[in-house]
Amino acid sequence: MTDDIFENMPIISPTVTHREGENDEVESKGNSVVGSDSIERFKHLHNEGENAEGRCMSPFHTVDKAEEKRRLLPSKLPIVQCIARARIPTTQGPEIFLHLYSNDSDNKEHLAIVFGEDIRSRSLYKQRKGDTQSDRMIRGAYVGKLYPGRRDADFDKSTGLKLEFDSNGDMIVDKNTTYCDTTLVRIHSECYTGETAWSARCDCGEQFDEAGRLMGINGHGCIVYLRQEGRGIGLGEKLKAYNLQDLGADTVEANLLLRHPADKRSFGMATAILIDLGLIEIDLLTNNPDKIIAVEGRDRQVHVHHRVPMVPLAWQGEEGVKSKEVEGYLRTKVEKMGHLLSKPL
Ligand SMILES: [Zn+2]
Repeated sequence: MTDDIFENMPIISPTVTHREGENDEVESKGNSVVGSDSIERFKHLHNEGENAEGRCMSPFHTVDKAEEKRRLLPSKLPIVQCIARARIPTTQGPEIFLHLYSNDSDNKEHLAIVFGEDIRSRSLYKQRKGDTQSDRMIRGAYVGKLYPGRRDADFDKSTGLKLEFDSNGDMIVDKNTTYCDTTLVRIHSECYTGETAWSARCDCGEQFDEAGRLMGINGHGCIVYLRQEGRGIGLGEKLKAYNLQDLGADTVEANLLLRHPADKRSFGMATAILIDLGLIEIDLLTNNPDKIIAVEGRDRQVHVHHRVPMVPLAWQGEEGVKSKEVEGYLRTKVEKMGHLLSKPL
């Protein structure tokens, strides 16, 4: 099920600990009300095969080869534009720079949570018609630090840092002002239940926290936060899937019974946002081999140098999400979704 490309891909350990699954939701396995027969039946109702994003929608992973999967990705990425960026001091210590994006393919507000003042969005910093220095500071297109009375967005007197632009108004990338090295990245899909409502059905909240912790230690990093709740099926459908799980289905079966693909997420938006941030050489925090292919894009516009595994905290003998639901959820990821988690479940 796992392609050689991933088995051979260098794995690096984060500075301290690592962990994971992948973020999404659901799970529980039990005395199936929903047996494999049902799944076979439902497979026919779900356009088995690939979705528009080219992701394998089959829980059985009929397409095994990375190159084949890559060719199925869409040839066009969404066009994204960063609307605003702001510095956020955090309760955890490190400062982050929150970037809000608009795009041409959905009406959701996707985010990039950036560690490092010098990671810069090309679309945010591009000079706009009628732009004033004040406009630029207000939308967050400044270098260095804001302070009361500052007037120039492109030049920070306190640090001497200065941004330069070409005749089209595009920011000229200079290593002294703009980060260009390989960057630790996590692609995280929104999970209201796991991040806000203390759910122990999944480990999304834990993964999110851990990604931020590692990036804080590294000093640079980016969590692309995609608004695709419930593996892309939305919160209402996700709640129904939870009920099906309580009735005995696993996370994949529950989605199929609701006539959704096992995983409806797409990652072209993340690829486009990473390119906009100049993060094209990355180390990716994930256990999901399909995500590596999807994030790199059809033409490998982004290059994943290393995969950084995420091992669930509870498996490391630390505090972490513990419940029979999350254990079943992780088991389904490994057994049905090809996740590279090595601890026997
Ligand atoms: Zn979740």
